[in-house]
Amino acid sequence: EAVVRFEDVHFAYVPERPILRGISFTVPAGRTVAIVGPSGAGKSTLSRLLFRFYEPQAGRITVDGQDIAGVQQESLRAAIGMVPQDTVLFNDTIGYNIRYGRWEASEAELREAATLAQIDRFIAALPEGYDTPVGERGLKLSGGEKQRVAIARTILKGPPILVLDEATSALDSFTEREIQDALDRVSRGRTTLVIAHRLSTVVGADEIIVLDQGRIAERGTHLALLAQG
Ligand code: ADP
Ligand code: ADP
Repeated sequence: EAVVRFEDVHFAYVPERPILRGISFTVPAGRTVAIVGPSGAGKSTLSRLLFRFYEPQAGRITVDGQDIAGVQQESLRAAIGMVPQDTVLFNDTIGYNIRYGRWEASEAELREAATLAQIDRFIAALPEGYDTPVGERGLKLSGGEKQRVAIARTILKGPPILVLDEATSALDSFTEREIQDALDRVSRGRTTLVIAHRLSTVVGADEIIVLDQGRIAERGTHLALLAQG
């Protein structure tokens, strides 16, 4: 049972400028919560606190009921899989890139993770920039495809909790749709916190939390938020 809870969390990088001013929410086991809000609202700060890069000045964060203030960063990293916004690919096949960090994974497990993230058709391909033989060209992956490689890599490690920082780059509607599908598939049944940059990619989240100026301005399902205007 992987449950993440923020309880009245206050945080400031510098005392004179509070970033989070009493944030409370729960990601229930197996559910998906999306955090949205304007740039600078404090969305990424939430995930930095969850990994203990910083400590809240007030309130607390718990994982499975345990205050993370007493948990080693190492253990948090093992329990929480982070899919970063920008992924730098190693100069090797997409399959190698997915396997990175879990070399013992079987071919079947690799394929399963890649399929879930909808990047399986590229497993054998080399990303652009690879030192390919003369006449051959590496594959130029879009931002969305790179993020799906990162999603597959995280899925393969199998952490009970997933934190996904959505790509910020401008995406065409087809790519957006593909990311939404990949998100739907990987988050199903997993405790997932999505730092969302587009409301359209998290329409199915169990709860959407709108951050504004350090406070929760609105919360609810996509439909409920739409109804509220
Ligand atoms: P978001 O992810 O919603 O765009 P962030 O959580 O990255 O926002 O940042 C929230 C605010 O905190 C921004 O105004 C940002 O400039 C500020 N900030 C982020 N990191 C630092 C830091 N290390 N020191 C001081 N201020 C920071
Ligand atoms: P269920 O058991 O009904 O699938 P979930 O909580 O896993 O319960 O998901 C509820 C709905 O939200 C599902 O349709 C799922 O696909 C969708 N969903 C979950 N996470 C996301 C996400 N990050 N982005 C978009 N849709 C999501």
